[in-house]
Parts: sequence; structure tokens; C-alpha cells
Amino acid sequence: MKPVLPFVADPGYAFETEWIAALQAAMPDETVVPVAQLDAAARETCTVAVVANPRTEDLRLLPRLQWVHSVWAGVERLVSELGDTGLQIVRLVDPQLARTMAEAVLAWTLYLHRDMPRYARQQNERLWRPHDYLTPQNRVVGLLGLGALGEAAAQRLRESGFKLRGWSRTPRTIEGVQCHAGEGGLVEMLSHTDILVCLLPLTPLTRGLLNDMTLGLLRREASLINFARGAIVDDEALRRALDRGTLRHAVLDVFATEPLPIDSWHWAHPAVTVLPHISAPTDRNTASGIVAANIAAYRRCGVVPPCVDRGRGY
Ligand code: NAP
Repeated sequence: MKPVLPFVADPGYAFETEWIAALQAAMPDETVVPVAQLDAAARETCTVAVVANPRTEDLRLLPRLQWVHSVWAGVERLVSELGDTGLQIVRLVDPQLARTMAEAVLAWTLYLHRDMPRYARQQNERLWRPHDYLTPQNRVVGLLGLGALGEAAAQRLRESGFKLRGWSRTPRTIEGVQCHAGEGGLVEMLSHTDILVCLLPLTPLTRGLLNDMTLGLLRREASLINFARGAIVDDEALRRALDRGTLRHAVLDVFATEPLPIDSWHWAHPAVTVLPHISAPTDRNTASGIVAANIAAYRRCGVVPPCVDRGRGY
């Protein structure tokens, strides 16, 4: 008999059927089913589940569960909600996701680098006014986070000639990137940065990291791209920096509350570009292939892929 692999999603999740179809196609040797459809005997057999924003009470339906494989790269909600369950969490690490994010980082870096928000405003005013051009070699892009996504973004930016700095928790060496680590490294990196790209996980240490103090360290008229999580930015500090003009523009794909509330100040701020969390959507087919390979290795020899470190929060 094929092993049962439960899929556990938030009950309101719109793409459960599509995920189950993609996972089932990638794993013909498993029976992939929504957890709600399993009887008590089948639930007893499950030691692993594939999850998309699951409710803890649904995971508790599986008494022998040892680990969950998320279909998302960001797992801060799982980490906080599964705190006391002892379950191991595996997140999605997909080279296709990294390529998609790297493309988005390059696209929106070029948007800022080539002053597109300013020329759009000028067009609105029927204003014909060219501004000085700066080469990418003279523009410093600072990457917060040099993990799977940050490193892929660095490579795309390097190919386009940008000067690069990066920041991580532990020291890293990446070709063409001046790498910094730790608190002192953050100050050093920010004070040299023209375009700041945030690709950090949301953890207790990164929540509110971009605040009055840190935003104030950036170079004159710097810009921000946040493709990570909204709560890493102190929204009011961001607004102050944009209103003062010390920060020139912010491209925001993620917000503390999503969907972004209709009365949020971000929508109408002339120095903000609002994106609806689209910088790097998960590709169901490649992601299912990655989940399939991890589940196959687990079934074969009991190996659980590298897990989220609960202490670090990512
Ligand atoms: P990752 O591989 O775990 O990399 C995280 C990076 O952040 C690492 O370089 C890590 O440092 C660094 N870091 C973590 N905490 C830090 C701290 N306190 N101080 C300094 N550096 C710290 O994660 P990833 O796959 O690149 O993904 C990053 C985030 O992107 C995800 O957590 C998710 O929230 C977000 N995301 C957004 C979208 C979207 O569509 N907007 C899509 C996918 C993912 P070390 O190298 O020292 O570990």
C-alpha cells in the first residue's frame, strides 16, 4: 500500500486542490490527501505532512507526526505557532524561487537606479527635464540577508555591474560582494548603501530592524526595496524618512498586514510603490519536485532535510 501523505492548509486557502494535484503528480508512490479526508487509522500512519499555513489544531489530528514540509520559503508563522509541538519544520528551498526573486530584485533595482518614479511624476506634470545618469558601477546596492534568495539576487546584480555590499548573521564570502556580519557590520553596510534590498527572514532579531536609527544611516537619497516581510520595517519610521526626503523611494512587496488595508497611508504616498506580495511566487511544479525528492529520501532512509532552527527563528 502507498504511504499516506497529508496536505494541511489553512481552511480558507484557495489553491489546496491545485497543490494536491501538483504534489500527487510529483509523488506517484504516495497518496496525497487533505488531512480532513483521513480516518483515524490513516492518521495514525502519518509521520510527515506537507503544509501551507496549517492550523495547529489540524496538525494535532496526526498523533505520530514528526516533521512538516512547508511549501513556502518564509516560515515565521509556522515557527511561532508550532512553538510547543516539538515538530521539526522544513521550509522550501527552491532554485526556481531564487531565480524568480533575483529577477524581481534586478527589475526593481533598475526601476530605482534609472529614476523611473521621478520620470513618471514628471510625465504627470508634462515636465521635460533630463537628470544626470549614474553608472551601476557608481551605485551601491546593499543586500540585507545573503541566504538562498540574497545570494541569487547578488549574482544577478553583479552581472548588471552594480557595486554590492551584503549583510548576514554569520560571516559570508560571495564573489563580487563586500560582505558584512553582526551589528557593527550593519552600520558599515548601511552607511555605504544607495539602494537597500531586504531579503531577511522575520525573526525576533529582525522585527523592526529598519527603524529611525538604521534608515538614518543610509546614504543621502537612498531607496528601499522590501521583498522579505513587512514587520522588518518600522512603518512609521519609514514614513518619516520618506516625508523628510532622506529616503527617496520605497518599493514594498510585503506589509505588516496583508492584504494592505484600504486606508493605509502607503497606497497614496508619492514615494511608495505598492506591490501585492508578488516578487517571488512559489512555482507549484518545481516546489512539488523539491518536496517529492525530500519525501523520497525520508521514506528511503529516514533522513529529514535540514530543519528550521527554532532558536534562530529561521
Ligand atoms: P535564508 O536562506 O534562510 O537566508 C536568510 C539570510 O538572512 C541569511 O543570510 C541569514 O544569515 C540572514 N539573517 C537572518 N537573521 C539575521 C540577523 N539577525 N542578522 C543578520 N542576518 C540575518 O532565507 P531565504 O530563502 O533567502 O529567504 C529570505 C526571506 O525571504 C524568507 O524568510 C521570506 O520571508 C522571504 N520571501 C519573500 C517572498 C516574497 O514573495 N516576497 C518569497 C520568498 C521568500 P546567515 O547566512 O548567517 O544564516
